Amino acid sequence: MADQTLARFVNERRVLTQLRMHGAMPRAELARRLALTPATITNLVENLAGEGLVAERRAASGEVGRRDVGRPGVDIALNPEGGYLLGAEIGVGLVRFALLDLALGVVASQTQRLATTAGPEAAVAAIAAYVAELERRRPVRGRLRSVGITVPGLVRSDGHVVHLPILGWKDVNLRALAEGVLSVPVFVENNAHAAAFGEVYTQPALSTDAIIYLKLGTGCGGAAIINGRLVRGAAGTGSEFGHVRIRASGPRCSCGQEGCLETFVNIAALERSYRPGEAFGTDGLSALPAIVADAATSGDRKACAAMDDLAGHLITGLTSLVNIFNPGTIVLGGPMRPVLAARLGMIAEAVAGGIVPGMQRPQIRLSTLGELECAVGAAAIAHHRAFDVSNIEIGA
Ligand SMILES: [Zn+2]
Repeated sequence: MADQTLARFVNERRVLTQLRMHGAMPRAELARRLALTPATITNLVENLAGEGLVAERRAASGEVGRRDVGRPGVDIALNPEGGYLLGAEIGVGLVRFALLDLALGVVASQTQRLATTAGPEAAVAAIAAYVAELERRRPVRGRLRSVGITVPGLVRSDGHVVHLPILGWKDVNLRALAEGVLSVPVFVENNAHAAAFGEVYTQPALSTDAIIYLKLGTGCGGAAIINGRLVRGAAGTGSEFGHVRIRASGPRCSCGQEGCLETFVNIAALERSYRPGEAFGTDGLSALPAIVADAATSGDRKACAAMDDLAGHLITGLTSLVNIFNPGTIVLGGPMRPVLAARLGMIAEAVAGGIVPGMQRPQIRLSTLGELECAVGAAAIAHHRAFDVSNIEIGA
């Protein structure tokens, strides 16, 4: 890539990133923020507008009358219809979709059932069918840029699913499989990594110096974001916080070990301490956190004890994570949310009391994206790959 072309490419992404993070602004403000001349900004904006990625917009009423040289009252904004990114969460018995526009608005979402015994081919076929449906609609037609897919298991950086015991998949080149069927680039990510990334990417005001994310449900996924980047490790499979061993023994974990954090804070653990032996089935199990939280509110002692037990183990795991990462924020998500919501204050206090003295107390809160967190996160990763200045791969 010639130097000049590279400079333009980088500057176009800098413009898009500014607009994503700070919203619409006048050309003069863009020039100031990016330390570029007004003429360069005009040129970049013209190109981006030609590609349909940005558009002029009348400034919000309160801002009209600002004295911007050249075009008073006109802002440059991301054009929501300039491109679309699809996120697809492959879960136990379901595929969940979220479609983001270029301005990160969720413009469509859908949850489809998928047999729990479905293999990778069936999951990819469901995604392809949804993409085909989207492609029939305006304004998405022809503007789908890429697809992000998440799975609740170990995923290498190259999109290869290494280990996915909960669905019985092993050594599946999911990225290659999906790209063989879809006509756009595909990214594959661990579901907790994606949910964590979506949380910070869709909230630019959140400090991304150090964030820890735990997704509690059937399993316990983890992610760390340091300086805005996911900590993936050498092969992409890092941050498996659910497999931090907090006890010498305990229920056998999906990883083959005993004593893993996951086995004390997942839905099976809640079931074990609330109503052992009762058959809830897959659907019932996913509703169990809400059932237990409701029962506790009504004074059910067993429900209270089950929630306390789970929170106690979570506190043990979180305390170690805070000592390791010194996170400013810990985000908790996943289907366990109702139980976590009911114990959030207690968890925050206990973690603060258990960490190394002098260590900054982290803010602990629930994820904001709800059940769409993995699908939105997958689409956010696709957006980041396509448009963000911090993700330029020279020669890619
Ligand atoms: Zn484990």
